[in-house]
Amino acid sequence: MIEKQKAVFLDRDGVLNKELGDYVCRVEDFKILEHNFKPLKELQERGYLLIVITNQGGLAKKWYTEEILMEMNRQLKETYEQQGISLSEIYYCNHHPEYNGKCLCRKPGSMMLEKAVARFNIDPSKSYFIGDRERDVLAGEAAGVKGILIDSDQPISEVLELIK
Ligand SMILES: [Mg+2]
Ligand SMILES: [Zn+2]
Repeated sequence: MIEKQKAVFLDRDGVLNKELGDYVCRVEDFKILEHNFKPLKELQERGYLLIVITNQGGLAKKWYTEEILMEMNRQLKETYEQQGISLSEIYYCNHHPEYNGKCLCRKPGSMMLEKAVARFNIDPSKSYFIGDRERDVLAGEAAGVKGILIDSDQPISEVLELIK
């Protein structure tokens, strides 16, 4: 049997890029938080996969397009790649209950995590979810992953000791 992997799941807005108080709608407002390169590189070196899980209900509201989101995510992956850090996948939910109906993926739903767990053969009990909202922690816990709540834009280095 193939050995299971461990992962640190990451919310996007307020964790990997600057929180604006609402959806990031323009590529020029997408500011990557450079203070997290070092701690995330350390986690990668400790054997954790890094996987992004993000609610993008602004798509349902048509505040920005899927193409704009893809460009932000491409910049995120590329910038991390330049630091020698691989973001294995970026999962996003493009639903919003008041616009295009309920879904199972929007956090606090856990379907995006469960997809990642299946695809990357992850052991949830050895994995973590770092987010800046209660719903991130709830989504993690629903998938059997330990949740770590940070303040928006708080450096991950400050919670690194919680990850064994
Ligand atoms: Mg967030
Ligand atoms: Zn969804």
